[in-house]
Amino acid sequence: MRIGIDLGGTKIEGLVLDKAGVERFRLRIPTPATSYEADVEAIVGLIDDLETRVGTRCSVGIAHPGAISPATGLVKNANSTRLNGRPLKADLERRLDREVRMSNDANCFAVSEASDGAAAGCGIVFGVILGTGVGGGVVVDGKPLTGAQAIAGEWGHNPLPLPHDDERPGPQCYCGQVGCIETWLSGPRLQQQFEQRTGRMLRATEIADAALAGDPQAAAQMAVYCDRLARALAGIINVLDPHAIVLGGGLSKIQQLYERVPQLWKRYVFSEPEHIATRLLPPMHGDSSGVRGAAWLWPE
Ligand SMILES: [Zn+2]
Repeated sequence: MRIGIDLGGTKIEGLVLDKAGVERFRLRIPTPATSYEADVEAIVGLIDDLETRVGTRCSVGIAHPGAISPATGLVKNANSTRLNGRPLKADLERRLDREVRMSNDANCFAVSEASDGAAAGCGIVFGVILGTGVGGGVVVDGKPLTGAQAIAGEWGHNPLPLPHDDERPGPQCYCGQVGCIETWLSGPRLQQQFEQRTGRMLRATEIADAALAGDPQAAAQMAVYCDRLARALAGIINVLDPHAIVLGGGLSKIQQLYERVPQLWKRYVFSEPEHIATRLLPPMHGDSSGVRGAAWLWPE
């Protein structure tokens, strides 16, 4: 059996999947967040608890913020900053006396959807997080692509492709660059762009709902949003040629994306427009994708 752990900012969730991928137990505890050591203790305790309940030793996969640097073996880029610079993988392996597989939350989302979710059976899958930030993960034949820097899939900090005149130079991004995809496509940015154009304050999903209900300002905003997302994803398709792109995060609930964006990306993808096989799919596992994908880090 396989254990998956999702180390989040406010909670640590763990589950056990049996050989067939059926969920056997699930537990959730608050993240101590007082110190790195307390986080490690909490994860070890949760795994002990799950193994006691199923009565067997399991494989362990962990979804975590940031990435494990291939150069140093230490956590980097985590928004839970107490993890940065810490040997989390080595510490857990020593405490648990076994190999532990770890991947960041966007990668685990992609693994989950590629293993037994929306993109099951697809060879190359790009999992997109569209939420307060924009991230992504790449899965090839069920395994996350880690890469030389462990940043594969971090498309949110590429520039928006094919910018129009009114999109140059683009908004300042916290990463130090200007005009990053995240500065155009995150939920807070969609909300901000709409407010600047109309003076109205609506959340991203409310703008989408208003557009569907016939609100012309919201419809205009969503048309622009869909076109930007199509350009951004066309860049991914040209490089990776995925069989499926699965959306996750809060904006994945916007239903009109799944029909409109593939129509729009035909004009940007370098292929025969009428024969683009890449599918754009809503997620199947929702908020469980991190913990499920972590368990699936051990597909064998
Ligand atoms: Zn950026």
